[in-house]
Amino acid sequence: MADCLFCRIARKEILSEIIYEDDRVLAFLDIEPLAPGHALVVPKIHVYGLLELPDGEVEPLFLGVKLVMKKIQQALKPDAFTVGINNGRVSGQAVDHLHVHVIPRFAGDGGGSLHALVHNPPQESLSEIKDKLWKLEARD
Ligand code: AMP
Ligand code: ZN
Repeated sequence: MADCLFCRIARKEILSEIIYEDDRVLAFLDIEPLAPGHALVVPKIHVYGLLELPDGEVEPLFLGVKLVMKKIQQALKPDAFTVGINNGRVSGQAVDHLHVHVIPRFAGDGGGSLHALVHNPPQESLSEIKDKLWKLEARD
């Protein structure tokens, strides 16, 4: 996509602090880091979210996430990581190109867990929700 910010970063038209690159994936430091080493891992092809990512690109992307975590672990020695995707506007996605946040976590950093993100327990039972999901065929 010509004017997509992360496509432009992947084409090196916009400068970023690149920490990992291969033929399918790019990783660079978030420009407004939530923690030291906060990185974004993106597929080089333009897709909006994980649902649009072709199956064959999933493994390279998440291998990229793991390799970036290994680098950060060695260099910055965090105590933990929070890894996540804001997938869709309502979840907080601001840049319309799939990106995985890798956020190093340090003891006493004052941050919360994924459980702090939302408190919207279902009206239906788990069994009712399971029945809706289990019967669906997810593969193309
Ligand atoms: P999200 O809300 O998940 O879409 O997050 C988008 C992220 O992209 C934010 O954490 C921004 O700080 C980050 N970001 C925006 N522009 C740039 C840029 N030019 N280089 C690196 N990170 C960026
Ligand atoms: Zn893009």
